[in-house]
Amino acid sequence: MGTFGELMSKTFDVVKHVVKSALLVAAVVAGAECWAQAQNSAAREGATTPPDPQIAAALQQVSAKRIQANIEKLVSFGTRSTLSVQDAAGMAAGRGIGAARLWIQAELEQYSKECGGCLDVESYRFVQQPGERVSKPTELTDVYAVLKGADPANNKRIVLVTGHYDSRNSDNFDIKGDAPGANDDASGTAVSLECARVLSKMKFPATIIFLTVAGEEQGLYGSQHFARMAKESNWNLEAVLNNDIVGGDKSAEQDHAVVRVFSEGVPQAAKDQELRRIRGLGGENDSGSRQLARYIADVGRAYEVGVKPMLVFRLDRYLRGGDHYSFNQEGFSAVRFTEFREDFNHQHQNVRTENGVEYGDLPKFVDYDYVAAVARLNAATLALLASGPAPPANVSLVTKDLDNDSTLTWDVSPGGLAARYEVLWRATTSPEWEHVQKVGNVTRATLKLSKDNVIFAVRAIDGQGHASLPVVPAPGR
Ligand SMILES: [Zn+2]
Repeated sequence: MGTFGELMSKTFDVVKHVVKSALLVAAVVAGAECWAQAQNSAAREGATTPPDPQIAAALQQVSAKRIQANIEKLVSFGTRSTLSVQDAAGMAAGRGIGAARLWIQAELEQYSKECGGCLDVESYRFVQQPGERVSKPTELTDVYAVLKGADPANNKRIVLVTGHYDSRNSDNFDIKGDAPGANDDASGTAVSLECARVLSKMKFPATIIFLTVAGEEQGLYGSQHFARMAKESNWNLEAVLNNDIVGGDKSAEQDHAVVRVFSEGVPQAAKDQELRRIRGLGGENDSGSRQLARYIADVGRAYEVGVKPMLVFRLDRYLRGGDHYSFNQEGFSAVRFTEFREDFNHQHQNVRTENGVEYGDLPKFVDYDYVAAVARLNAATLALLASGPAPPANVSLVTKDLDNDSTLTWDVSPGGLAARYEVLWRATTSPEWEHVQKVGNVTRATLKLSKDNVIFAVRAIDGQGHASLPVVPAPGR
């Protein structure tokens, strides 16, 4: 342990003494042992909530066979180019994006039937005007199922999982040639579908939406319009999980134990005042999307889903984009799941063999067990967020006095599910929450830690131990 650790240990011996004798209005907290382990990942375990046995059992229902059947079915439509046929004749012939969309709708309706009509299957339609990758006005349809929350005080809260069901080959404007899109993105579509099938057998206080969008390959149009609609309709969308290329391509260097989770740093939607605060106080690593990514990392530690999330602290890969960006632009917290290593011979390619190299996004390159593991990670995250309380509101760090303590205040978590609250903190240089302090059912806590040295957050916990997303405080008076 270096000088810093020793210093902190000493500081906390003093602090512990002070705490014992202090009169506490709400909660005053020290963490001597915690500091000694500041750089130890084991300390982080404290921030991980214990697994919910019902959710753990539900994850067992996720089926690699089902996922395989769904990906093969999506591929069977030949092409799902957004520009491909979607008239009655095309749909009857079972080729093109129209036929694929009909099948997704029917599949979701079947899941709804199996749960006594618990899912509302909906379409969001609009006409996309010509653009760089759209030759003529084209009708786009996003298909989604809503598992409405069972608690009227919480069912306006929404968590959402999405994948894009459109596909493409080497030529964006080729609307007839095969574009199997098994990995990109039948895999993500299959994750949305399988989450819908499994989670529709359960009841949650908050609402879950299982979305599949079109127009991704044309410029994220399906998600852009959907996110805009959600914003304009004042949807209380707490989290968006975008799965795009989660097939676990079977290339030699693939790591099937890992899935990448991309999250924006400085929020796309941040306005001037927020940007000034981020520049001044170091909030570039604390967007809502990043809190969601850290939450997913926690889920990965608490549940054995078969794959470990690897957080990547950037919006997306170089030169690439995805549907989470559309939601980020509207101010929603959204992350992207993508396999560890992509094989670019198997994406956006005409199916062919050249010099012994196979090109094309074919089902045979997809690892269905891997997709199932990613689906479990998604399902666990959705189930936990939809079970847990809303995040505390108006979280604030009192800054009116120059002192070395930190006082946090917040409003109760709306919806009445919260039984208590926890304060999380980490070193400013640390990627994940390192320390957690239970502070009880209060709306104010003082910690014997300097706000200048750490980053804080507050989260709400319900009676069963489900955690809300943490909220980083804004400076207050
Ligand atoms: Zn994609």
